[in-house]
Amino acid sequence: MEQLGLVMVYMGNGKGKTTAAFGQALRAMGHGKKVYLLQFMKGSKDYGEVRMAAQLPLMTLVQSGLPSFVVKGNPTPEDLRLARRGLELAQAAVSSGQFGLVILDEVNIALDYELIPVEEVLYLIEHRPPGVDLVLTGRYPPRQILAVADLVSEIREVRHHFAAGIKAREGIEF
Ligand code: ATP
Ligand code: MG
Repeated sequence: MEQLGLVMVYMGNGKGKTTAAFGQALRAMGHGKKVYLLQFMKGSKDYGEVRMAAQLPLMTLVQSGLPSFVVKGNPTPEDLRLARRGLELAQAAVSSGQFGLVILDEVNIALDYELIPVEEVLYLIEHRPPGVDLVLTGRYPPRQILAVADLVSEIREVRHHFAAGIKAREGIEF
């Protein structure tokens, strides 16, 4: 009987959550595990990791968001539709049991912005089949998510080059 997988949360206001999730994915794939990576609130193909995913046979990467920012407190119907679709795809990936690691990138933000209900993410977590590890990323996870996580790592900003006026760079931010 396979062990129940872990629920890991990467949170905090510093840079490194999404890239840490990709590092975890690399490690899992090194052991032959299939990885499903769902990106909430992202729709740009310009990210280096999105380009790279197409070359990784064990990785399935799906974006379910618009390339533009979601306005907190005033999401468009399309923002809501895409977030819901993302949740449904994630649920299907988890319950299929085919993926050893499922990453819900920026799901904490989708919850904080109330694009999707926390109860449904909790349902997904609680009903995951054995052998499926989960990673949830995003700055501000709701307390209900923190309550069920096995691991919570906070990436705290000590300094970010953005404050010195250095704009997003290819290969660093995207
Ligand atoms: P990365 O994708 O590089 O791992 P992240 O997932 O931790 O970063 P998010 O909170 O998802 O970061 O924010 C997305 C983008 O905002 C990142 O590309 C990052 O460089 C930028 N960012 C993150 N933290 C800060 C910060 N403290 N100040 C300014 N920009 C930031
Ligand atoms: Mg991120």
